[in-house]
Amino acid sequence: MEWMADQRRLEMAAEKAAEVVDILGMCVPPIDPRAVATTESKFLRVFGDNFRNSFDGLLEYHGDRNRFLLFFNTKYDLRWTGGGHHPRTRFSLAHELGHYYLDRHRAFLMSGGSPHRSRGEFETSVLMEQEADSFAAGLLMPKGLFRPMVNKGELSVPRIGQLAGLYGASLVSTAIRAVRMSDFPCAVVGVQNGAVAWCFQSEALVKGGCYPRAREPLSSGSALKAWGRFEAGEFTKVSAEGKVADWFETYDRQDLGELPLTEDYMPVPVTRTLVVLLTMSEEDLSGPPED
Ligand SMILES: [Zn+2]
Repeated sequence: MEWMADQRRLEMAAEKAAEVVDILGMCVPPIDPRAVATTESKFLRVFGDNFRNSFDGLLEYHGDRNRFLLFFNTKYDLRWTGGGHHPRTRFSLAHELGHYYLDRHRAFLMSGGSPHRSRGEFETSVLMEQEADSFAAGLLMPKGLFRPMVNKGELSVPRIGQLAGLYGASLVSTAIRAVRMSDFPCAVVGVQNGAVAWCFQSEALVKGGCYPRAREPLSSGSALKAWGRFEAGEFTKVSAEGKVADWFETYDRQDLGELPLTEDYMPVPVTRTLVVLLTMSEEDLSGPPED
């Protein structure tokens, strides 16, 4: 499946980031992407400024001096009171570091490929950009540190909030990373324009037989209601009960489709996305033990 191959490439990008953090001995969150960049100062110069709406980040290669210039937009820092950079700024910087550290990306730029003006977090369907996003998440939330914390229990919105604060990452990228690291069956879905725009699942959920579905409009009553509230400008976090078939493809396993799951809605008005954390009982998914 092409989907599996893409997933593998995204995982490898995150692993590369974990390697970088490991080599540098950075083992206490939050990881500072600027400090990572500084260790490459011979080849990489970093410039942060308010570039307004032109881009979130940009990496250029200058062959005459064999040097990369990394620009990142600090516009999100303007109203940020949390100290250091805003999580989105940190993510932009980490994303550009992905273009620098990932071999194929670097080779592309060095061979004269034109730099891409990167935007947002997980808002692109271009695989190279997704790889840089995956690198960024892997750098800010390295597997070795993050995974044990995630698996102290099942995921919930408050736990994702705590992790986001600790790692200096946005709620959305923390939710995605946490789901991918979770040993429990869970998923996080981004709803845009009343349809599923993206979905990330834990391995336990896929192994249990629940697969991502092609983009399609929301069908379940609870999801439609939540989307209606979001569109009306009501940005409250609410929970609802749904079933597996509302969100996932289970192929010949219709019994799986009927299993209950919990939907936790997290509105992110700035990206016009209604993020949904989907969790379900481990016992439900694995079924009664066979004898
Ligand atoms: Zn990019």
